[in-house]
Amino acid sequence: MARDGAAKEEVAIKIIKDIKKMQERSDGIRKDAKRIGLVPTMGYLHEGHLSLVQLGKERSDDLVVSIFVNPAQFGPTEDLDQYPRNLERDLDLLEKAGVNAVFTPEAKALYGDNFQTYVTLDRLPAHLCGLSRPVFFRGVATIVTKLFHIVKPHVAIFGEKDFQQLQVIRRLARDMDFDIDILGGPTVREPDGLAMSSRNAYLLPQQRPAALSLYRSLLLAKDMVARGERRSASIVSETRRLIGGFEDAKIDYISIFDADTFDEVETVEENTRMALAVWVGKARLIDNMGIH
Ligand code: AMP
Repeated sequence: MARDGAAKEEVAIKIIKDIKKMQERSDGIRKDAKRIGLVPTMGYLHEGHLSLVQLGKERSDDLVVSIFVNPAQFGPTEDLDQYPRNLERDLDLLEKAGVNAVFTPEAKALYGDNFQTYVTLDRLPAHLCGLSRPVFFRGVATIVTKLFHIVKPHVAIFGEKDFQQLQVIRRLARDMDFDIDILGGPTVREPDGLAMSSRNAYLLPQQRPAALSLYRSLLLAKDMVARGERRSASIVSETRRLIGGFEDAKIDYISIFDADTFDEVETVEENTRMALAVWVGKARLIDNMGIH
């Protein structure tokens, strides 16, 4: 029998599908003056997600992870149906990581029959991924708003791997007065440098070198800047040459931009970042880095 001071009792992870139940649980935790953390995900978890879980645990008393493949952020020709899923494995990983609760709603609970209210941003989506994925940021801003109302976190953690998404959410939280700290976590990479992503599951072994061209491009850009190059155009053209060497890689965009406004810059400065999206077979891969 456990006595005071004896080994801590194991508390099983709570799995919640119901919106009302999630809200009531969060109300209870808030009443106890505990801080709630939230890590939103689409599941098929990897070390990148788990690094955000660790950050979240450090910054909260009760950490919730949501797993929801959000239909609103996929275009009609995108990979919603093929998106990889493995809920059992995800729950196991989250339990081992010491997460308190997992929110796994059904799409029909979040987007009922007559759903028609979306959250959109004016300017940030008119760049980078927003151009090739027109409904993506509307879907992201809408689901994150809903999750904020349902989980009621004090802090929410997002990855820098999706840098434009992180900045969109920071803007959303400020513009809509969410009293929530938005925290960014660094990109976690495979040993060879490929940014971890659930979509890496689409890659065939022979496509690995092409997939690595994104990370190599960012290192090339950083190295050119370190050696004194400041002209974005010449960095972009070297990058195009590098990626062009891989038959399996098709560039969606390469952009050198200001990290706050996302406007492209002609000259690399302190706040300049490079981001790129490249199709490798069925996978549309993205990556980014500060290059100054
Ligand atoms: P996703 O499940 O792909 O929607 O991602 C859920 C969260 O994990 C987002 O905030 C992503 O930015 C973040 N994330 C995805 N991949 C990585 C990674 N390699 N390193 C750090 N965070 C990541």
